Amino acid sequence: AERDIGLDWNGSGSTADGHPVAVLANVGSVTDAQGAVEAEAQGVGLFRTEFCYLVAADEPDVGTQRDVYAEVLTPFAGKPVVVRTLDAGADKPLSFLAPGTEPNPALGVRGVRVSFDRVGVLDRQLAAIAAAAADSGAEVSVMAPMISTASEAAWFAERARAAGIPRVGVMVEVPAAALSIRDILEAVDFVSIGTNDLAQYVFAADRMLGTLAGLNDPWQPALLRLIAMIGRAGAEFGKPVGVCGEAAADPWLARVLVGLGVTSLSMVATAVPTVGSALAEYSSADYRRAAEAALAAPDPTRAREAVHAALG
Ligand code: PEP
Ligand code: MG
Repeated sequence: AERDIGLDWNGSGSTADGHPVAVLANVGSVTDAQGAVEAEAQGVGLFRTEFCYLVAADEPDVGTQRDVYAEVLTPFAGKPVVVRTLDAGADKPLSFLAPGTEPNPALGVRGVRVSFDRVGVLDRQLAAIAAAAADSGAEVSVMAPMISTASEAAWFAERARAAGIPRVGVMVEVPAAALSIRDILEAVDFVSIGTNDLAQYVFAADRMLGTLAGLNDPWQPALLRLIAMIGRAGAEFGKPVGVCGEAAADPWLARVLVGLGVTSLSMVATAVPTVGSALAEYSSADYRRAAEAALAAPDPTRAREAVHAALG
């Protein structure tokens, strides 16, 4: 039944002039993976592995991890899946890794930062992902959360490649990473913008606080200007730039993101048919015009209005 909201979504994202844009799903469980298949997502742009372990008391061993990952990956045999290494800490404490006792957890030892002192946990997870990739036949990439510098990106890429994973990327969700994007793109095969955290850190506004939702609005021109920088750098290096934050699920904003140079969009599965259909309605040139209009706007409301006007 859910599929029928898909309008004319045919499982293959592109603009009206045939420029491909992969429309992917965010998943955190086997159930989510089934939902992504039903929505005809072209693959998975973000597998949040920490969601598998929110209630785990101890680190799951390699075999246990491999089994869970393989179950999520198998429905995507032959399709791209980006597996994110554990993003523990902040709003997602894991009792065996980042128990959540810091005064400022969003600014603390979270994401890839946890790995620097616990490198064995990362290496065991990478081994499990590599094994699950081989079992499933999915085209697996890995990426690290909360990368802040190019040297962190290079450090992660080296470990992931040593584990036998051929495609390695990082999330861009810390403003410093966006500002170092060219150096980061030297070190990795692709990047994926996490607009939820990037907005939080750009605006110094806790993403969990409803009272600050206006600052965390992904239509904020300052956020879009950073995304434009990343899109330009990706085009220059010929490397993919995804968006996997909630912003990608808004069909009008998805059009703007494509105009900013984003090459894939990953979202909650239920949004896949709507966004996939929405992208097919206008051309790449239209999206570039819409993006210019959004970048020039003084605030989110006027950015939305300007984009609606630009696309008429
Ligand atoms: C993000 O920050 O936008 C993101 C996709 O990661 P998460 O929501 O899991 O922090
Ligand atoms: Mg994030």
